[in-house]
Amino acid sequence: MATMNDVPPIAARLSRMIQLPTVSAELKTRGTAPFEDFVALLAELYPRVHSDLVLERHTEFGLLYRWAGRREAVDGPLVLMAHYDVVPVDESDDWTHPPFAGVIENGSVYGRGALDDKGPLVVILDAVENLLAEGFVPARDVYLSFGGNEETYGSAAIAIAAAFQERGIVPWLVVDEGGAVVDAPLPFVPGRAAMIGVGEKGVMTVRLTARGDGGHASAPPNRTAVRRIARAVERLGPGTFRPRTPQAVSRMLTQLAGSATGPARLLLRVLGALPPLSARVFAALGGEAAALVRTTVAPTMQSGGTAANVLPSQATATVNLRIALGETVQSAAARVRRRIADPRVSVEVLEGSDPSPESPTDNAPFALLADALAVSHPGVPAVPYVMMAATDSRHFHRFAPAVYRFAPLEMSNAQRAAIHGVDESVEIAALERGERFHRALIERLQ
Ligand SMILES: [Zn+2]
Repeated sequence: MATMNDVPPIAARLSRMIQLPTVSAELKTRGTAPFEDFVALLAELYPRVHSDLVLERHTEFGLLYRWAGRREAVDGPLVLMAHYDVVPVDESDDWTHPPFAGVIENGSVYGRGALDDKGPLVVILDAVENLLAEGFVPARDVYLSFGGNEETYGSAAIAIAAAFQERGIVPWLVVDEGGAVVDAPLPFVPGRAAMIGVGEKGVMTVRLTARGDGGHASAPPNRTAVRRIARAVERLGPGTFRPRTPQAVSRMLTQLAGSATGPARLLLRVLGALPPLSARVFAALGGEAAALVRTTVAPTMQSGGTAANVLPSQATATVNLRIALGETVQSAAARVRRRIADPRVSVEVLEGSDPSPESPTDNAPFALLADALAVSHPGVPAVPYVMMAATDSRHFHRFAPAVYRFAPLEMSNAQRAAIHGVDESVEIAALERGERFHRALIERLQ
């Protein structure tokens, strides 16, 4: 049995953070105390960051630290992002260790937020604190941007991004959560890869409403409101949007070909070299593969009618779309209307956010990520991909060209499944390598 003294400090610090239940979706019931305690905890755990960096608060939950560099870089600062809020825990779930206890056992730290996103946050702060202890000054400004309501699509990151824009500061490199160091990124590709998200899809929810003549169900007209809605939903099949392979996906395939062997290697090479072909192949595969290359359409709710023998005068369907890179909320809505092609079905956009642009992979910022990775995770290739989920960094991506979604932590498939799920945990060795990554990144800034 290990004593507390044997616990590596980085694990102890993460444990303390996990013990504060910063559940943004339960703000109403839990209050703001865990969040305020978290800010105070950062000051306690990282005294040098607290004294040497300037902290600005944007809205109630946005923390922006500025670490002044040796010079004012003309092409902007480094921005390291993370969020300190977590998703709720389902009380009926059976966790091996209580989710907010921060138990450290068998070389891992357990609890809600271990991977999403307090683990990635702890490795950033540890790296900066350690560099400060050495008297290190970065070549250019380094900002730490921590949001407290990422999981509820809150405004903290929006406000921080707006502050950068108002000040005319365009970051040279932004790194936020997203990809990780994973095992076997594709089923037939062995080995580990650092998956770096270079873009994220947009999201849109639309409501379709059909009106028809109400009346008795005994003598229905040909086109009732319910039939119109059913037809409209049917017309929004998987083929609604044309598949198109983003550059990042082609690069991913080409790069993974390097780690594959035999026929898989050839297949990946060909798919990487021929985007129109990979678009068709992935679309045909369906599921996650198809989601990589096209805007997906998922009908999620349908309603109409109040009695079994009455024709409703109105029926509705709610459809959730994930918008592919290169399209917009506006263009997607226009396509939905064209496909439905029924003037008696109205299409209303309830909410929408455009996909991000795509960050390049042949630039100096991406090369720096790969350099840092070579220090922290030797032999692990940096592989670009496109994210399906949203991160806070999308607010920066509107005006910053080099935004990458990557937490330098090893995550097994089981660990990734525990994110937003049960038994979230991170290995202490992974935290130590993550700290090394950020230290290398900051040290190599020019
Ligand atoms: Zn997250």
